[in-house]
Amino acid sequence: MDFKYYLNIFVRKILIAMSKAYKKMDVGLMNLTNKRVILKLIKQKAEISRSAIAKETGLTPPSITRIVDELIQKDNLVEYVGVGNSSGGRPPVIVKFKNENNYIIGIDLGATYIRGCLVDLNAKFISEIQIQTEIEKGFNHIIEKVIQLINKLSTRKEDAAKIWEVGIGVAGLVNSKTGIIESSPDFGWTNINLREELSKSIDLPFFYDNSTRLMALGELNFNNKKDLSSFAVINVGYGIAAGLVINNRLVRGHAGFAGEFGHISVDTCSKVKCKCGMYGCLEALASGHRIASVGKMELEHKDAKLLKKLCENNQNIVTAEIVAKAAKEGDPVSIRIYDEVTEYLCKGIGVIANLLNPEVVYIGGGISLNGDFLFDLINSKISNFLIAPNSNLKILPSTFAEQATSIGAVSLVLEKVMNLEL
Ligand SMILES: [Zn+2]
Repeated sequence: MDFKYYLNIFVRKILIAMSKAYKKMDVGLMNLTNKRVILKLIKQKAEISRSAIAKETGLTPPSITRIVDELIQKDNLVEYVGVGNSSGGRPPVIVKFKNENNYIIGIDLGATYIRGCLVDLNAKFISEIQIQTEIEKGFNHIIEKVIQLINKLSTRKEDAAKIWEVGIGVAGLVNSKTGIIESSPDFGWTNINLREELSKSIDLPFFYDNSTRLMALGELNFNNKKDLSSFAVINVGYGIAAGLVINNRLVRGHAGFAGEFGHISVDTCSKVKCKCGMYGCLEALASGHRIASVGKMELEHKDAKLLKKLCENNQNIVTAEIVAKAAKEGDPVSIRIYDEVTEYLCKGIGVIANLLNPEVVYIGGGISLNGDFLFDLINSKISNFLIAPNSNLKILPSTFAEQATSIGAVSLVLEKVMNLEL
């Protein structure tokens, strides 16, 4: 009897404690969700009154006042503008998003260049720096350059301004669970703990991800096409990769490696070996590196006179850009090289389009800077690789050209600021 009595009391106490904890957690989560909604709404509008926020969100005026005050005083992301005109009753209190004096640094860590930008929370560029990576000088030298670049950009803000975080796009496979760069063929790195290396010298919070995935995130957040929800960004440079956005979400996959588009096979009979060890990968047959290699091999061809002239008969300076220039000026060998490369690219784009049904495929990286010449070639071939319902697929140059990865890196940290994950 006594045992049952005490057991009942014990169970009741546990249930009450659990219920209190659950309610507390639930209220905390609800507050955070409301705060995020209000912050995003304020950012969307140039200026907005507290009563208009109440109308748009359906939250009560006391809740709006409390949350807006928190965003002003604690988070420093919103500021008072003043009091507006009254249409009867109390005059409205106007607030706005505080993008001035609130900055983010975006870094594009590539094998040829390291680019960095200082932007405000509306992604307006305040300062931009580009330096040579000097990859041949090794890992420590590259890390030192990244640190110097971040420090240099940090000095380009007003004294009172705040830098929230640093975003870094890196040419490598970043494991989204561990943060380890498992492989970077461009740099020749395996299993690099970038967080550990940079933490020794950088006080600011920083986040990093694969540069092509970030290019897609940049398009998602800063592209002018507001209703675009599913698209792909293909980065064709030294290698080839893709960033995929489906229904407004960046696809990362199980460990962050989704989008290794360069390693789909586009020629099973090919004798060209890819850096990954397989044969006939898209990257092995259509990257900027491949275009330059074939250009070098074909330099002595009797029809490559123009290409030979443009590179001053020096095999060592043949690049994908020079081959493109020769092709545009009518060099038959260079035209053939680009014809073959774009055929492979279209084969790959067809796979993405038929598998995921994007509305647009953006092409970024060095190859995209060739303008109409490249896009005319691609558009003349792509229909051979699409099912009929996908025939309205648009293929466009990446919106942000050379700044695409930096903008993506900014986007990575801006999402965290707006989600109040600080
Ligand atoms: Zn491969």
